[in-house]
Amino acid sequence: MHADLERVIALQQLDTKAGAARRALADAPDRDNAYDARLEAAKQAIADGKAKLAANQDARRAIEKEVAVHQGRLSKYRDQAMAVKTNQEYHAIQHEMAHAQGEIKKYEDEILERMVEADELTAALKTAETRAAAEQKTIDAERKKAQAEDAGTQAALDGLSAERAALVAAIDKRVLAIYDTAFTRRQGIAVAEAKDGICTICHVRLRPQVFNTVRRNDAITQCESCQRILYFVPAPASQSQVS
Ligand SMILES: [Zn+2]
Repeated sequence: MHADLERVIALQQLDTKAGAARRALADAPDRDNAYDARLEAAKQAIADGKAKLAANQDARRAIEKEVAVHQGRLSKYRDQAMAVKTNQEYHAIQHEMAHAQGEIKKYEDEILERMVEADELTAALKTAETRAAAEQKTIDAERKKAQAEDAGTQAALDGLSAERAALVAAIDKRVLAIYDTAFTRRQGIAVAEAKDGICTICHVRLRPQVFNTVRRNDAITQCESCQRILYFVPAPASQSQVS
């Protein structure tokens, strides 16, 4: 195979790997933001649980005040009942006392409901706290793993850059210019396999004489449509391999 053709194929492989590595590293801020959002949601669930419990306690205290008000009235009516002179007054006081007792019963039932609700809210808060602790632990581990992967990716990228510099230095300047132009214009793919008479990337049929040249792999030939540098992979029966 033509030496520079072999080199541009290798260069394309390096650039494709480096591109993937750069994209992976560029994802890091989004990934970290997603972790932060998950932790924030877990903390928010705890804050919501605490707020609901506090509201329940406030409501219960307000109801207890109502109970005290009606108990005060009931006690006053009992005193008055001792001093009444007429049957009519007695019945009126009895009526007031019954009403106060009814109110006290109603509010005490409400207190019981609030207590049951408080038990449920306390359990829910505990669940939220357990979940948040587990989420924190999971995310700490995932973040650590992702950071280690990023460090590995960065190291690989540094290695690829060094390898690329050495490779580029060996490629003929005109061939490199063809590669660079195609790379820029064709979204990072400057080299294409020709197969069955077709450029496998842009899918345009090559002129037979162009394909025949490409089959020999002994020259730098561009696709007349997409301008990518073409190479040919012989059938497996042949021992020559494109690496
Ligand atoms: Zn093409």
